[in-house]
Amino acid sequence: MQDLQTPMMQQYWEFKKRYREEILFFRLGDFYEMFADDAKEASRILGITLTQRNGIPMCGIPFHAAQNYIARLLRAGKKIAICEQVEVPEKGRGLARREVIEVITPGTVTDEELLEKQKNNFLLAAAPAGKERVSLSCVELSTGEFLAGTAPGSFAEILARELARISPSELILPESAMEEPEIQKVLDAHGEIYVNRFPEWYFDPRTSFERLVRHFRSVNLKAFGLEEDSPELITAGPLLQYLEDTCHTLLPHVRSIHPYREEDALLLDETTIRNLELVKNIQDGGEHFTLYRVLNHTTTPMGARLLRRWILYPLVAPADIEARLEAVEHLYRDQHLLQTLRKLFASMLDIERLATRVALDKAHAKDLLAIAGTIEAYEEAFALLSGIEAFSSFLLPVDLFETLSTLADSLLPALMDNPATSLNEGNIIREGYDPEVDRCRTLRDHSQEILDRYLQEERERSGISSLKLKYNKVIGYFFEVTRANAHLVPSYFIPRQTLVQTQRFTTERLIELESQLAEAEERLVELERKIFMDLRERTKTHLEGLLALGKSVAAIDCLQSLAYAATRYGYTRPVLTTELVLDVKEGRHPVVEAHLPTGSFVPNDLLLDPPRRTLAVITGPNMAGKSTFLRQNALIVLMAQMGSFVPAKEAVIGIADRLFCRVGASDNIARGESTFLVEMNETAYILHHATPRSVIIMDEVGRGTGTIDGLSIAWAVVEYLLERVKARTLFATHFHELTKITHPAVFNLSMAVREDRDGIVFLKRVRAGAAEKSYGIHVARLAGVPEAVVKRARAIEEALSRREEDLTGTEGGPSIPPPDSRDEQPELFSPYELLAEELSHFDVERHTPLEALNAIA
Ligand code: ADP
Repeated sequence: MQDLQTPMMQQYWEFKKRYREEILFFRLGDFYEMFADDAKEASRILGITLTQRNGIPMCGIPFHAAQNYIARLLRAGKKIAICEQVEVPEKGRGLARREVIEVITPGTVTDEELLEKQKNNFLLAAAPAGKERVSLSCVELSTGEFLAGTAPGSFAEILARELARISPSELILPESAMEEPEIQKVLDAHGEIYVNRFPEWYFDPRTSFERLVRHFRSVNLKAFGLEEDSPELITAGPLLQYLEDTCHTLLPHVRSIHPYREEDALLLDETTIRNLELVKNIQDGGEHFTLYRVLNHTTTPMGARLLRRWILYPLVAPADIEARLEAVEHLYRDQHLLQTLRKLFASMLDIERLATRVALDKAHAKDLLAIAGTIEAYEEAFALLSGIEAFSSFLLPVDLFETLSTLADSLLPALMDNPATSLNEGNIIREGYDPEVDRCRTLRDHSQEILDRYLQEERERSGISSLKLKYNKVIGYFFEVTRANAHLVPSYFIPRQTLVQTQRFTTERLIELESQLAEAEERLVELERKIFMDLRERTKTHLEGLLALGKSVAAIDCLQSLAYAATRYGYTRPVLTTELVLDVKEGRHPVVEAHLPTGSFVPNDLLLDPPRRTLAVITGPNMAGKSTFLRQNALIVLMAQMGSFVPAKEAVIGIADRLFCRVGASDNIARGESTFLVEMNETAYILHHATPRSVIIMDEVGRGTGTIDGLSIAWAVVEYLLERVKARTLFATHFHELTKITHPAVFNLSMAVREDRDGIVFLKRVRAGAAEKSYGIHVARLAGVPEAVVKRARAIEEALSRREEDLTGTEGGPSIPPPDSRDEQPELFSPYELLAEELSHFDVERHTPLEALNAIA
């Protein structure tokens, strides 16, 4: 630990004391070095070599390649403190002065190079707000968006959902919450995310109120729809405080706060989002095979980000849904307009993030040009859409549009087509914009011409045709005259040097020209910088307009994306109603069909019309298409409520308040919990939260435990759903017994199967009524299980089903089997059971003793 003592390492530890949580990038020459624990962690995440220096682990990265490494550390949920050398000692002796110039955190980065284009980067603060309510605030600094809301539910449950829904890259949580095992579990399941723990007293609405009022420079927050004690403030304040502490330069950019209400969206919980594979697939968490992938034909980054949100927050207000549908339909019908818009939008740049760069004084000339270009493209779109009623609510208000047009008009003539991004080299301002810039530039670019012209003038004036204009480093520009012509030199020539053959002179004009030339370059850079700064300041006054433009572009881009998907995949406009119905004719699964050859997906109908057909029990063999049918109907509801056309011939959809999707728990094994416990947790969640307005799909629930247990639970759950919850439900099950439940609101559906000599064919068609038998054995054969096993299985199946009939007693109508009477049913495939089974059918009376002995043998 000798190194601890070197002055440099002492300096390092001083910094480390202040930046304990961060990975400290310590600048040493051309490298950022990391030491001790930081080094171990970074080398693990970045896969770079760990070395040792006097017993201290260290690793380093070249500073010019730092961005890439920083991006990877951020993605792994780390904070980074950049410690630079701000003063290097003379002759390289002694210690450099260093300073931490920047702390980069996953939730507060705004540098595009470190951000993913198509994804929002959220910093989320969450804290309990009384019992069964949670306060949530989040900010997206690269676009300046600040949202605050509350949600009903337990803290762990809401936190899990928000992690799935908005995928924040950094969190702020109260310290106490972090000690709860439930919360810890949620965080563990989410993988690497940076969590800032703040003490409880941070989460106080009163203090928050004052902080927000100060920040927004207002007397109260009424303009934002918030009161002094609004529970949203519990988290909004700490969030703002954190921004002030870590990156106060970003704050001016946060212009307003938008409260959001849970009731404004179709509620999707974490499990539903995952099971329906809305934005991530279950298999590898990637984007392919998701609804997002199928619907995303946006052409701008802000459109792509918004579409993700439209999918995760479908609407419930009929007027809002219809507004989107109207616009989608308009584009769907006018394919020419759709194509034109798509082209126009493809030329638009990320105006939200560009506006942020302007707000942070980081924008360079290309950024301003991009803003102007995007406004120009928007002008064209505006001209195309402003006469169409369906777009009125998605376009900018005329006055705002006009101010932005003026801004673009003032930027475009000022900026070069391909301006420099640095402010130190000129090449920003377009010719003809500023006379002084033009003059300086002419001077600089045409210096030789100017000098030549002047030389020509002096030749003519003096009559010395051999007069030369030369330059050297010692005396600069000079005229050179040969001895023979010395008598012709005019009186205003100022002698500089006399050589053997020649004499050198200057003139006042030459001196002036020379200094003008030298200054021109410098002055040009300065002038261009100043004009540019003025333009940037002017642009900055339009920040709100630019953010509004970003929103409008994003929304219209989403609408065209939906119209495009509708065209490409043949969707139709759904009819939405407040009645509790779900009537889908020839529905399809949008994702499955997109991966099958065109036309090979088998469409299926569904009709739920509570209080009559409320809950469908769906049976049929494995691989027959049950899960697909279930999910396609959930997705159709979701798509309709996000304002999209749907994959069906016709669809009438009673707007749902919540959508639940549960799948028999095999996928959760990875989480290390008992599958059955997970399944029951999720089932309990539905039974507690679903309302008659909800839509529920349950796939193979009850599979995670023994047969009798599972059946009994599934049965009781169905009854509870029917009696109490009354939500529209699709319940797929392999428990054939469930088809015997009687209730006016329950009905059976099954997957049609055609049997032929070689086995069975799944028709993927849903039909009324229960499945006849389980086709598991056929599937086993199809899967290549040896013939002997298949044969044996048939025999066993037959034996068991005979026995089942004895036990349930089909007479007297279906009834709940008393679980105790079935308690002794042994495990399937128990050899003793099979023996007993076969023997029980052996009629001793009819056989000789020898036959009996043979049978036993
Ligand atoms: P189950 O849930 O009954 O086991 P799945 O829904 O998982 O069956 O479907 C099995 C396979 O059949 C899947 O690979 C799916 O792509 C395909 N499939 C399902 N439904 C259809 C359909 N309606 N048309 C065409 N293929 C389908």
